[in-house]
Amino acid sequence: MGLIACKFGGSSAADGLQIRKIRDIAAANPDRRYIVVSAPGKRYDADNKITDLLYLLKAQTEHNAPYGQLLQVIKERFLGLEADLGIHVGIADEFITIEENLKNGATADYLASRGEYLSAKIIAAFIGYDFVDAAGLVLFSAKGKFLYEETNDALGAELAKHERAVLPGFYGTLPDGSIKTFTRGGSDITGALASRAAKADVYENWTDVSGFLMADPRIVENAKAISYISYKELRELSYMGASVLHENAIYPARLAGIPINIRNTNIPDDPGTIISADDKPQEGQIITGVAGNKDFTVIGIYKNMMSNEIGFIKRILSILEDYDIPIEHIPSGIDTVSLVIADKYLDEKLGDLIEDFEKKLGADSIELYENMSLIATVGLGMASVPGVAAKLFGSLTEAGVNIRMIDQGSSELNIIVGVETKDFDTAIRAIYSAFVA
Ligand code: ADP
Ligand code: ASP
Ligand code: MG
Repeated sequence: MGLIACKFGGSSAADGLQIRKIRDIAAANPDRRYIVVSAPGKRYDADNKITDLLYLLKAQTEHNAPYGQLLQVIKERFLGLEADLGIHVGIADEFITIEENLKNGATADYLASRGEYLSAKIIAAFIGYDFVDAAGLVLFSAKGKFLYEETNDALGAELAKHERAVLPGFYGTLPDGSIKTFTRGGSDITGALASRAAKADVYENWTDVSGFLMADPRIVENAKAISYISYKELRELSYMGASVLHENAIYPARLAGIPINIRNTNIPDDPGTIISADDKPQEGQIITGVAGNKDFTVIGIYKNMMSNEIGFIKRILSILEDYDIPIEHIPSGIDTVSLVIADKYLDEKLGDLIEDFEKKLGADSIELYENMSLIATVGLGMASVPGVAAKLFGSLTEAGVNIRMIDQGSSELNIIVGVETKDFDTAIRAIYSAFVA
């Protein structure tokens, strides 16, 4: 017998119908002993995710706006699940506690975590598994740094006491016991942590698509599913915006050598995508996928004879350090260097930063390109095939997309291009069609 740890995302926990699918999937293989769940997600397009509503609740109380109605909406979704599934886990009482804490200034992290907490309670009761809270097991330092090894020990020791358990994803605790969440989508991380702690043979991540697709299905219709991908490639794609799996969910699984299998709760027989350490390119496959992120600014700095000037880049970096601004990429030419920076770090600092550059760098020109997006084309197979870059750039030119920046990692695992955000979807479609016939 093997051991499988599973994580079911928001759409898989959205309503009674979906939760019955979780029960059936768990029952279909007795190895599925540990199950991490998200808060209920959307039941239909225009619906709300519970996590979003919980954050909204916090925002309303912060602005002294009446919150009663919103709290009622959230409560009713959980009461509805209890009624639909014919179980009783004390949702009404839980909401008395939540409201009390809300009135006493509960943090956004605490409130957001209640989605996963209640979801796990309900699902555990319905499928007959133990409920194991993540509080006290998924651990952060007082400064909020996630503690891998302490978590692994605590979680491992607790899981060993339970033959079968459901755990809430997304959050853990600080040393004083208060709740701290991961960033959005963080239940994927909890699933990876539980897999590692339980020494699972595989980490099944159940969602609403039949695996990792070669491109975001909201941009490329009928994008092909990837049957196999290495951790390395996946990390590039997740980091670059392929949102199926949280980028930080890969590390714990990779550390323990546990393959991740992305599966579709709605089509459980589909084999999905296997992600593992094996990094031999797949036969005949040049690119594995394409993904992108919006909201970047590129600052292009030109200075004659820059290449001869020792310490020029160092000066740029130290100015950025003064502003506490991280850089995404620094592609450079002989006399030029471009700084690619996420807008969220620039906001109101941009004007001052440029002024400082002008004063301190003695550059011939500094150009600003706003509303930029980065698109990564990723594939282990790229290194061995000549002409990949030419094909990629050709496809963009043909689609009328202006390329503002190019960066190819020395690993030749990816090629990143910067394009104007208005061209984002067009560029992704063009690259996809160039490589996937
Ligand atoms: P969950 O709630 O199960 O965690 P997410 O919404 O976080 O699910 O992730 C699944 C979604 O990711 C899909 O519904 C799809 O819209 C989106 N997505 C973006 N890029 C990709 C891709 N390359 N392959 C598959 N899905 C993708
Ligand atoms: N519920 C959280 C979110 O919406 C965490 C997750 O679903 O993974 O971000
Ligand atoms: Mg997710």
